[in-house]
Amino acid sequence: MNKLIQLKNLTKNFDDQQVLRGINLDIYENEFLTLLGPSGCGKTTTLRIIAGFEEPSGGEVLFDGIEISKLPPYKREVNTVFQKYALFPHLNVAENIAFGLNLKKVEKSVIDQKVGKMLKMVGLEGFEKRDVTLLSGGQQQRVAIARALVNEPKVLLLDEPLGALDAKIRKQMQIELKKIQQEVGITFIYVTHDQEEALSMSDTVVVMNNGEIQQIGSPTDIYNEPENRFVAGFIGESNIIEGIMIRDYLVEFDGFQFECVDKGFEDNEEIEVVLRPEDLDIVEPQDAKITGVVKNITFKGVHYEILVETENRIYKVQTTDYAEAGREVGLKFGPEDIHVMYRMGAY
Ligand code: ATP
Repeated sequence: MNKLIQLKNLTKNFDDQQVLRGINLDIYENEFLTLLGPSGCGKTTTLRIIAGFEEPSGGEVLFDGIEISKLPPYKREVNTVFQKYALFPHLNVAENIAFGLNLKKVEKSVIDQKVGKMLKMVGLEGFEKRDVTLLSGGQQQRVAIARALVNEPKVLLLDEPLGALDAKIRKQMQIELKKIQQEVGITFIYVTHDQEEALSMSDTVVVMNNGEIQQIGSPTDIYNEPENRFVAGFIGESNIIEGIMIRDYLVEFDGFQFECVDKGFEDNEEIEVVLRPEDLDIVEPQDAKITGVVKNITFKGVHYEILVETENRIYKVQTTDYAEAGREVGLKFGPEDIHVMYRMGAY
């Protein structure tokens, strides 16, 4: 796949605050890439620099290999969809979608054909003449997406586009957006602070914190092989434990050695281990190395969340098996459930 956009050592300062600290990122054709991170980490600023609404303080933005940092937004082959739909209230659905094409003086029959195609794609056939102010939030956002896509940009930038929708519509729109992206076959760069949204839609997730990229990977990589404590803590729930990598495939934590599937660390390197709550099983104490007492059990619908207090810490476990508070239990997990990470400075 071709690299479409390259961010090279991108920095951005607002007054004396540095909000981007050297972002390096390659974005490919047809990729659904998500910038994920907590509020204020610099996601929107990165997107606005790609769109051309903001100039970087340092570094380069390349589009198809050409530096575009100084190019105004309208000259870039990108379009943006914001959380606030910003539709024109005095225009109906079809007129909103056709707006950009009318500006470009595209022939009417071509406009009608393109608008019809877009309405179909976003599931709003028959809504042409509707007043946009009377549409639901989800429908308004579909119009905004159609309006952005009708110009046939090479890249669609989406800044928390589903943020204003309620949970059920949001889930439905996530599935539809992914489908639309596959259908039009263009690059989507999506900004969200919602990890579930990022994992369910993206080809590539870029986890950011404090103006820096923490990890770039597929959703499964990011979830299963977090590279550091920040990523492990931000994505899903984790038990994070300090330990020692004795040698390849052998790790020690909580006073015991365990076989694992990780390698490539220094022998006896100080590392951290992630154990996902859903990967831990409750067994009889004699069947496990790590043992403890059930502190608390909470019913969560599909599973129980059980807190097990051991000598060194409290482990969080998600399981469908019930375990009474006060019971002595063992914690069982396999080599593939242990995820070894580099030990980082304090986050
Ligand atoms: P959110 O999810 O809350 O939108 P974000 O990760 O998208 O967060 P940004 O909007 O990129 O974060 O903001 C990063 C930092 O830059 C924040 O501290 C923000 O206050 C600051 N910032 C953004 N735009 C400006 C501006 N125009 N002037 C001054 N500071 C700004």
